[in-house]
Amino acid sequence: MTMLRPLQQWTCDYCRQVIEAANEGVLEWIEDGDHQACGFRVVHYLPASPIKSTREAGCYHYADQRHKERLDSFLGPDGLARLLLFLDAGSGHGPLPIADAPELAKCCRRLLLPYYEEARLYWGAATKDGFFRRGDRAWAYLEDTLKSIINEYGPKTRIS
Ligand SMILES: [Zn+2]
Repeated sequence: MTMLRPLQQWTCDYCRQVIEAANEGVLEWIEDGDHQACGFRVVHYLPASPIKSTREAGCYHYADQRHKERLDSFLGPDGLARLLLFLDAGSGHGPLPIADAPELAKCCRRLLLPYYEEARLYWGAATKDGFFRRGDRAWAYLEDTLKSIINEYGPKTRIS
């Protein structure tokens, strides 16, 4: 059994509880001194935050209200279109460079690759075990590989 429905549920980067649906989650980020996007976080949308009664900002990390968009904006092909703007803002706008490409890549994997969000919880155990020596770098992120990581290193009930 997977704990999270792939591409429909996530683990909140603030409270660590499950974000039950894309419209209950937000991608937030900030700009560094050079106006480069950084600090990407997947968190509960304030009205859906389990901690909103005890913390005014709910699960948000940043006070900056500008850079918070619901997760459903970043799913599927339209989501990829939006995420790619962090690499190339398109003609007439100039580049909107990001400060940290691996950070953006991780964010894209969480939002676009089925089973990554759960498999990443077991990445450390799989690495320590030599799991990733079985294939090339892309293989690590393929859907069947990610399912295998969950099956081998996650709670001991199998996913179909
Ligand atoms: Zn949360």
